[in-house]
Amino acid sequence: MDYIDPHIHMVSRTTDDYETLARMGCVAMSEPAFWAGFDRGSVDSFRDYFRQLTQFEPKRAAQFGIKHYTWLCINAKEAENVSLSREVIAMIPEFLTAPNVLGIGEIGLNKNTKNESTIFLEHVELAVKYQQQILIHTPHLEDKYQGTRMILDMLMHDTRVDRSRVLVDHVEEHTIEAVLENGFWAGMTLYPVTKCTPQRAADMIERYGPERLMANSAGDWGPSKPTAIPDLIMELKRRGHTREQIHRVVYENPRRFFAQSSNFRTHDLP
Ligand SMILES: [Zn+2]
Repeated sequence: MDYIDPHIHMVSRTTDDYETLARMGCVAMSEPAFWAGFDRGSVDSFRDYFRQLTQFEPKRAAQFGIKHYTWLCINAKEAENVSLSREVIAMIPEFLTAPNVLGIGEIGLNKNTKNESTIFLEHVELAVKYQQQILIHTPHLEDKYQGTRMILDMLMHDTRVDRSRVLVDHVEEHTIEAVLENGFWAGMTLYPVTKCTPQRAADMIERYGPERLMANSAGDWGPSKPTAIPDLIMELKRRGHTREQIHRVVYENPRRFFAQSSNFRTHDLP
């Protein structure tokens, strides 16, 4: 079945992974900017990273017929360096007209600190100013509930933010309801170690329905499985979900969400 992975970090994957994803039905993906595993030292380091995301990765994906989109930001882990974060935010507009940029992301919180909140809000300001969509990272494990709450409060406090253009990722059973009932889109991240398994994701789809809900693999340089969405498709088939129901979550929903960005080319998709 054709599907879209709305959150996958291909800079950390091999070309063989692109081939495997194409064989499994992946037709498009979006790659939010994230932490490199080490703190970057200067704004130029980010400029090069954004060139990789906007110039090199789309070409690598295209070799396998996959459309590659991206989101730009400095991630929450590096937000403790407020002055560097501000330099990066000031530089991002250089890339917003690149043809594969969908918006600002993945922004959010990591340890729920004051500096992280400050830089989060400055990213939101940037998104509002340039009418960009937003992709949100919510913290892991014990920081998740409080961090998600803080993020939703900050977003809902700002009446200029259009919630139907915001995707809140890494939702779990204890955070999904607040995200969906306030009008945001929700993304379930399928991970072999932490976060959510295909079984738990299938449970959430059954409990909350497919409206504004999607799934992603996050596929990064940590333990992760870039083909996690085909696993979810298999689990949903096993439970008797119809082809249309499954297609809605793994293809139609990300397509509809992305289509709110002027850079997204719906007619390029199968
Ligand atoms: Zn990520």
